[in-house]
Amino acid sequence: MRTIKQIYNAPHTHWVGNGFKVAPLFSHMGEDKQISPFLMLDYAAPMEFAPNQAAPRGVGAHPHRGIETVTIAYAGEVAHRDSSGGGGVIKQGDVQWMTAGNGIVHEEFHSLEFSARGGRFEMAQLWVNLPREHKRTPAGYQHIGANTIPVITDENGSVRVIAGKYAGKYAGKLGPADTFTELNVWDVSVNAGAEMVFSLPESHNLALVIRHGEVELNGSQRAAETQLAVFEREAGEIRIRNTGGKPAEILLLSGVPIDEPIAAYGPFVMNTQEELVESVREFNEGKYGWLD
Ligand code: MN
Repeated sequence: MRTIKQIYNAPHTHWVGNGFKVAPLFSHMGEDKQISPFLMLDYAAPMEFAPNQAAPRGVGAHPHRGIETVTIAYAGEVAHRDSSGGGGVIKQGDVQWMTAGNGIVHEEFHSLEFSARGGRFEMAQLWVNLPREHKRTPAGYQHIGANTIPVITDENGSVRVIAGKYAGKYAGKLGPADTFTELNVWDVSVNAGAEMVFSLPESHNLALVIRHGEVELNGSQRAAETQLAVFEREAGEIRIRNTGGKPAEILLLSGVPIDEPIAAYGPFVMNTQEELVESVREFNEGKYGWLD
């Protein structure tokens, strides 16, 4: 089996704007938990929002460069607008895969409809690094509707393949997201009392986020809601046994690491300090465009 490196508790939450109460489950700015090609994961655990007739909650115009941001709406809705002219609503079950690349300015708010109605909100935002040769690729985004994401189901649970290739018993199921490097982003649901077994490529880093429920990993270690399990990069299967009374909902992330230096400042992630200074300057010069 693949060795469990460590299981981490979620750090304290903070607000992103006034719309997203997130726990930064891992970050490229930290000393540990490096899970390249993934840089960061902000997880907004379920919370209830009251109906709001005032301006929608969220975060106003801000830039990104050198990365992709992936927003998974598990409950509630996020409205998005960006300087490339893109915009829309990420509804429950949908995923937005945004390539900041050479620079984008965008805003992220609760949708008008969700704001007015209120209710349960749960979301994850993942930052995926871009390799040097693609850091300045043109900006854009993929709206991945829930109905375009394949779900593979068996008696033990299901796998929703957002990105990558599910190589389990129904080998060859491809996720709809176009990615620049080899990676997997899957929503795994393990039925109560069941066990699912996965084998990811030896070349991939691998981490699991337990969103809901309680599990036993590799027959030895327990993990529960909002914990992050990081595995060694090595061959071997992983076993996820649901030890709780309800389905265990898990976000599985794996990918080939991008073995390049990282120079990061807030929403800009480049390879060198010089590129970072240039990136901030070009943002200030308006080269990422603007929101009308
Ligand atoms: Mn953003």
